[in-house]
Amino acid sequence: MSDTPEDLPPQLFRLAVEQAALAISITDDQARILYANPSFQRVTGYAREEVIGHNESLLSYKVTPRIVYETLWAQLQRQRPWNGMLVNRRKDGSRYLADVTITPVLDTQGRTTHYLGMHRDVTEVHRLERQVQNQKGLIESVVDAAQVAIALLDAEDRVVLDNQEYKKLIGVLGREPSVTVLTALKARLGAEFEQARELRRAIPARELRFEQGRGGKAGREPLWLACAVSWFEEQEITADAFYEPKRRTYMLLTLQDIGELKRQQEAIRMNGVKALLAEQERIQGLRETLAGAIFQLEGPLNRLQAAVNLLDARGETAANLEESLAAGRAALETLRAAMPADTQEGLQALDLNALLRDVLRLATPRMLADGVVVEWQAAGDLPRIEGRPAQLSNLFKQLIDNAIEAIHEQRGARRELRVSTRVYDDRVEVDLDDSGPGIPEAWRFKVFEPFFTTKGGDVHHPGLGLVMAREAAASHGGFVDVDPDYHDGCRMRVQLPLNPAEVRP
Ligand code: FAD
Repeated sequence: MSDTPEDLPPQLFRLAVEQAALAISITDDQARILYANPSFQRVTGYAREEVIGHNESLLSYKVTPRIVYETLWAQLQRQRPWNGMLVNRRKDGSRYLADVTITPVLDTQGRTTHYLGMHRDVTEVHRLERQVQNQKGLIESVVDAAQVAIALLDAEDRVVLDNQEYKKLIGVLGREPSVTVLTALKARLGAEFEQARELRRAIPARELRFEQGRGGKAGREPLWLACAVSWFEEQEITADAFYEPKRRTYMLLTLQDIGELKRQQEAIRMNGVKALLAEQERIQGLRETLAGAIFQLEGPLNRLQAAVNLLDARGETAANLEESLAAGRAALETLRAAMPADTQEGLQALDLNALLRDVLRLATPRMLADGVVVEWQAAGDLPRIEGRPAQLSNLFKQLIDNAIEAIHEQRGARRELRVSTRVYDDRVEVDLDDSGPGIPEAWRFKVFEPFFTTKGGDVHHPGLGLVMAREAAASHGGFVDVDPDYHDGCRMRVQLPLNPAEVRP
């Protein structure tokens, strides 16, 4: 086999150039065309005899910047090949984009005697490239303008594309919002997430809640996002994937802020809670009033009974007295019958932190008016307990109302209410610490007795609130007590069992 050009037949080079698919021309050192192959004629539209003796500038369409030609010639003068894009004009005046390579041909003394020019029409390739770029630009600006946060993640969950809305979340969810969101989504969906990934099954929007700010402090609204995931595959564009197509999977994460919707839903829910508590309060007020009236009546009636018994013992009759006694007893029975029963609500699994937050929110206007600062220390791991929501809400409302009143009375510089929750093996504990005057040791048990009040003869304080609160806790198998070791005000401690068996159905 031949391996030097000299061994090859001389006409082979000419035939090869003649039959090449590229437009090939050979010029003198002034760029005057000496030879052009058939492909040159096909691409430019000029017959060979029409170009021979003309400068290659015959093809120049004068939109190519001057600097391009200057660079071309500077390169050629250094006897180096040049490659670049030129806008050419065909014989018929139509334009095309030429990918041109020009190589200097040197003689044996190293002088440039000729130039070899090769070019091909790349108008269509360029059109497609531009189209792709335009589409990419369009997609990026649409994605960027979308009111929904969008992030595209690769197989390693790294963000490869995102938009302005997504970037806004960085301030709220940390440097890479997708990490926080995916962690929460995976925790919510469990194995379902990986199954969806494997089967490339879209995950419809799930509502996720994210606390804003550190330590879960009360006051900052949580962030609510509707998070949806879909997948798509892309053919790899590397050379080794040309004959063996490889696919790359991307995850499209869309996050929509549904805070406004949630706020509306929350407002409706809070109104419901408010109405429920108002109804409970009304019933409790009625029960307190009737209990007070029954208590007031029982004393004189007992004394009357004693008098009748005394007369009986002496063998005397007092028909009038007995009639009065019977009438009194009938009145008492009427009052007892009029006593409204406690609302019979069903037991359900309760998030005590959420319940307390609701009660605190309802008390916010009063606390703001009184300048009371609330410190909310919620245990993050609080399990749900079996309970009656309205009854327990009322219990805590009673204790919070008492605390606000105590702080109001104290008129001190410190106006604080600290509410904390914690969990033990067998129970959940809630402490309500107020900076009021506190409850003296001597009254620690008395405050839980019916009609005991520190508020004098105030008709609004018949002294049954704590009795009802303790009754509500007891019906849940729990307890309300004053912490005797707390001396910075008053600490009411509510304990509720974790074991549902202790809760009265
Ligand atoms: P010109 O006056 O020809 O040149 C512009 C600048 O280039 C000048 O200011 C000068 O600095 C420099 N220059 C021009 N000729 C020379 C030279 N002989 N020596 C040193 N510097 C010089 N052009 C195309 O538009 N399309 C083509 O397909 C194309 N193919 C070519 C193929 C070959 C093999 C060669 C050698 C050149 C080719 N050219 C092509 C370049 C062409 O010769 C012209 O330089 C170019 O078209 C600009 O023409 P012009 O009349 O606008 O300016």
